[in-house]
Amino acid sequence: MTTPKSKKTGADPKSLGPLDPEHHPHATYALDQAMVRGLTARLAASSGTTTTLYSPATGQPLGVIPISTPEDVEAAFTTARLVAARWAQSSYKERSAALLRLHDLILQRRDEIMDLICWESGKARIHAFDEPLHVALTARYYARTLKRHLEPKKRAGVVPILTQIEEHRMPKGVVAIISPWNYPFTMALVDGIAAIAAGNAVISKPDHHTPLSALLGLQLIEEAGFPTGLWQMVAGQGRVLGTPMIANADYVCFTGSTATGKAIAGQCAERLIGCSLELGGKNPILVLRDADLDRAAEGAVRAAFSNGGQLCVSTERLYVDQEIHDEFVAKFVERTKAMVLGASHEWGIDMGSLISAEQLATVDEHVKDAVKHGARVLAGGKARPDLGPYFYEPTILDGVTSAMACHGDETFGPVISVYPFTTEEEAIALANEGEYGLNAAVYSRDIARAKRVATRIHCGTVNVNEAFGATFASIDAPMGGMRSSGLGRRQGAEGIHRYTEVQSVATMYLLRLGPHWGLTDEAYAGVMTGAVKLLRYLGRA
Ligand code: NAD
Repeated sequence: MTTPKSKKTGADPKSLGPLDPEHHPHATYALDQAMVRGLTARLAASSGTTTTLYSPATGQPLGVIPISTPEDVEAAFTTARLVAARWAQSSYKERSAALLRLHDLILQRRDEIMDLICWESGKARIHAFDEPLHVALTARYYARTLKRHLEPKKRAGVVPILTQIEEHRMPKGVVAIISPWNYPFTMALVDGIAAIAAGNAVISKPDHHTPLSALLGLQLIEEAGFPTGLWQMVAGQGRVLGTPMIANADYVCFTGSTATGKAIAGQCAERLIGCSLELGGKNPILVLRDADLDRAAEGAVRAAFSNGGQLCVSTERLYVDQEIHDEFVAKFVERTKAMVLGASHEWGIDMGSLISAEQLATVDEHVKDAVKHGARVLAGGKARPDLGPYFYEPTILDGVTSAMACHGDETFGPVISVYPFTTEEEAIALANEGEYGLNAAVYSRDIARAKRVATRIHCGTVNVNEAFGATFASIDAPMGGMRSSGLGRRQGAEGIHRYTEVQSVATMYLLRLGPHWGLTDEAYAGVMTGAVKLLRYLGRA
């Protein structure tokens, strides 16, 4: 694995250790502090308490972040309710126009967004690029479709012609959005975009590792012309701010770990409010006998190591037909070993840093535990402190068994296990093992066969001959998890309908739905029974 110097900073990343500006007065911030203050001024945070944010890739300080309190959350909701009431009355046209302006701004400011994501998350530029792309696609999609998703729909009334019924959708009110650090721009924004498109206000809390990318998103939302106060942001620890957010929200959208998702679902149940939960995964790839092996090997590298495997839809289990196993694995290992690692923000880096010491420890523990119990390391297998504090090599394991933690537990890092299979049935059964059901991929030249296999995998999204991006970037299709991978869906109709209350308004003409015109109860029941039989005969739903 190649290890270039950082071209952006001109510094050798290994010479940069964590520097606390409070104790190292000469430590230089990597980011322009006027820019950071401009962003953090947007936070609802009044206590005066702050924390210093560091680049995970280089250890350099990035800026000082104000911390919000539960009182700040309360105040933000109070403002949001007032703004939400006005925004709910805005026209579809007004919302669409603002979303398209946001789309354009994001593409215009793409480089600025990617720079900040790289600094804050430590990821490679190619993986940072996915974020403005995904947010722009989402903004354009809901700009173009919100009218179709939200406008009143005529439904079939109980009495043909004489019962006219319409389904109306109205915004829930104020939506709380709690997002993780791994895709700090896209995860902080895409769910909220659907919420404001539906006429809601948003209070969001990005992860404490990555508030700046989310704040840049908030700045662009303001610049796009959405009303002040429609989308507010708080910063701090989820265990402190999560409870007051859920206590005030009309709906909660959470993306993060399954453990936190279950706790949030419990709090929402107490208040009888809805929530969508986008949670963890242990995603499989199936490489069938007739797959294009080069294409599958390239896809497996992206599926396993994009953003250092810190991606909810990334792959940690690779099932390969026995007949092509050795040939495929040789290609996969060769591509993995050729990956370029580094802390540079320039294009051409294949994998950056992990986010934190905790994440690095989990990855290291999973690999060490697997090796201790007999797994073989085919590529990678060790930390790279020479590149930055939290770097770890892209790692391929062979011979993993259910006795090892990385067999069923989500690593959320650059570690993938390869397993052979002999029959299609066995491959499907292996893919369906475990508690998760988020994403899968199937590689085969026989598309009909691959699609048949896909529909038997218990995952919310399945990609054929692509790693994960085909489903993730197709915003018209719902995206989310089955089983322990979540509840509800982002994207598509489901992604916006979750933020609405449905109301059915029926108007009855001429008839009354009860005995009238002198009919006895029994005669009325007889007429109605006959009418219902007739409708069945006429093929009516
Ligand atoms: P996490 O659950 O620890 O944190 C996610 C967010 O929840 C953060 O903003 C955090 O501050 C907040 N939080 C933490 N405890 C909370 C509490 N008690 N109440 C309210 N909020 C709380 O998750 P993480 O480890 O930071 O993120 C990685 C996980 O997220 C992985 O499991 C990954 O698979 C999952 N993820 C899923 C998707 C998806 O779309 N399905 C996308 C990205 C990440």
